[in-house]
Amino acid sequence: VGAIDINSVIKKFTTDDGNEITALDGVDLNIKAGEFISLIGPSGCGKSTLLRLIAGLSTPTKGTLSMDGAGIEGTSYERGLVFQNAMLFPWLNIYDNIAFGLKARNVYRKHKERVSKFINMVSLAGFEKSYPHQLSGGMIQRAGLARVLINDPKVLLLDEPLGALDAFTRMNLQDELIHLWKKEKMTMILVTHDVDEAVYLSSRIVVMTPRPAKVEKILDVNLSYP
Ligand code: ADP
Ligand code: ADP
Repeated sequence: VGAIDINSVIKKFTTDDGNEITALDGVDLNIKAGEFISLIGPSGCGKSTLLRLIAGLSTPTKGTLSMDGAGIEGTSYERGLVFQNAMLFPWLNIYDNIAFGLKARNVYRKHKERVSKFINMVSLAGFEKSYPHQLSGGMIQRAGLARVLINDPKVLLLDEPLGALDAFTRMNLQDELIHLWKKEKMTMILVTHDVDEAVYLSSRIVVMTPRPAKVEKILDVNLSYP
């Protein structure tokens, strides 16, 4: 499970000064469960817009999006979204940030071990009581990842999650993403402007045209990872 079907999706925005912008102009894309897809294309072409639609944060002007055959209506823990700056709650410590989704769903008491497991998984043991501003960029992204993974998503949506990190931290986190993908077998959809990153990480690369975006071509990478 975790297949995403995007059919003839059009997304238009009206700007504050009343102009209409077509961000997506008929996007068709079928993503199989367990694929690692990278979305690449020039800045402003509509990659984030497409990701937000898949997340259920926004609705298409025309066309349909579905997950495992069911229409995408609103957000769901089944589709976890990680942003470039993780968007941790600054007033919560790392433990509470990561536990947030479980608490919100009232499954917290049964899942203390689960919180510890995910804190360990992203190598943040010992930092439970730290606040986001006390951590490095890489640690914040790891916490952001754990906060989403703890909800057991079937699809992980990544909006340039490594874009703001230094090269060394980025390389480490790239390898962690590959490891996670192989281990958890979840569908991953990564928006990136880094072609090398797309080639290194994904099983297929979807190239989008400059705005208004369509799918320009799909490249099979099929690398056998070390
Ligand atoms: P990318 O992620 O590829 O850089 P985006 O999806 O962020 O591109 O944006 C695609 C286009 O749609 C851009 O021209 C952007 O300004 C516009 N856009 C995106 N979201 C909105 C919005 N909420 N209101 C108005 N315009 C938007
Ligand atoms: P809709 O509700 O019509 O589907 P969205 O909810 O996707 O549209 O867009 C609203 C969000 O996008 C807001 O958070 C807004 O701050 C942000 N936004 C507004 N203008 C732009 C823009 N030009 N580029 C990217 N994001 C934008």
